[in-house]
Amino acid sequence: MLNQYLRRSFFSTLTTKNKLLADGILQGNRTSLSRAITLVESQLAAHQTQAQLLIDEVLDQKRLRSRTRTTSSASSSSKHNPQQTNAPYNNTPSLTSFRLGIAGPPGAGKSTFIESLGLKLTKEGHRVAVIAIDPSSSRTGGSILGDKTRMTYLSREPKAFVRPAATWGTLGGLAQYTNDVVLLCEACGYDIVLVETVGLGQSEVAVDDAVDMCMLLLPPATGDDLQGVKKGIMEVADLVVINKADGELATPARHAAASVRNALSIARPKSKHWKTQVMRCSALLDEGIEDVWDNVREYRHVMSNTYQDGDESKNELVQKRARQSRQWMIRQFQARVLRELKDDAKISSLGLELESELIAGHLTPRAAAGKLLEEFRGNRM
Ligand code: GDP
Repeated sequence: MLNQYLRRSFFSTLTTKNKLLADGILQGNRTSLSRAITLVESQLAAHQTQAQLLIDEVLDQKRLRSRTRTTSSASSSSKHNPQQTNAPYNNTPSLTSFRLGIAGPPGAGKSTFIESLGLKLTKEGHRVAVIAIDPSSSRTGGSILGDKTRMTYLSREPKAFVRPAATWGTLGGLAQYTNDVVLLCEACGYDIVLVETVGLGQSEVAVDDAVDMCMLLLPPATGDDLQGVKKGIMEVADLVVINKADGELATPARHAAASVRNALSIARPKSKHWKTQVMRCSALLDEGIEDVWDNVREYRHVMSNTYQDGDESKNELVQKRARQSRQWMIRQFQARVLRELKDDAKISSLGLELESELIAGHLTPRAAAGKLLEEFRGNRM
């Protein structure tokens, strides 16, 4: 009886320990943020429930604080982030943070670039969070930062937070996980969130579902090599940067940029207000980073403008976040329903029964699925 009570309350309320984590996050504490992300990454159902409750708590408190600030007309801004005023949820018109996705193949220079950009931004007074995702290592639960030391200087910078991601098996998938972590980072006062992903496949395209802008970082390569850059990621890129434009690689970098421009000229533009630019830089020599960042700021400015569309005035970034929220809601719902199905003992045993009937040829897969659905509906009554 007591056990049951404890179990229920653990599942439905935030534990005192995790409540303290939420408070720590809102005070800009990196250790609390780190622990909260570990909770988000946990495979245990109880941890996942706690993670969700913790995110809700953080967002509720943040909303409450910003309301109090607004009603008391206090002009003072967040203690940790001079830019942060009131951003209750991620899809409100006042976007006070910026989420930049940086995708590219291994060895393109992503971590060198992020270190250089991150240090520049922290010098300017920003608080920068970096979430590094390597979908290819997620099957083993490993992470890109596990095997080599990356972003050493940025990791030591007090205004930065660098976190390798362990996305394996997270409820709702990669974009949902990224969204949860991004929300926590923002609540902790990080106004710029950089989401690094390795590779150029489906998962990187999925990251576009979690960021405001998607940047593709490529090494200098010939036109033929660029065939390997999948069409999908080229279509989601809001900016393409050819890195390593230095020394002997300067000329190949120029050729690569021309080749990408060519490829983009026949691709369908993502937005009617933004044309994907192709730029070159050297992250190693710290050259061209400023120009790349100017382009990011320009994008943010253009996409945050309000445009008249028929009777409606639209802000593309706000709309993009609203679209993402809708998708996350649907994914979360699907993931939860699937989890409930998997955990349902009656459905599992019926599944086993039906399996043998299927094998014996007494039932079609469609009919079997129908029976499972009937059982599921019956359980809901
Ligand atoms: P990542 O795997 O995409 O994160 O790539 P890294 O940042 O680890 O860089 C891979 C290699 O490329 C390292 O040896 C870097 O020193 C080198 N590198 C990175 N940026 C540049 C650059 O701008 N120019 C040159 N020449 N080498 C670079």
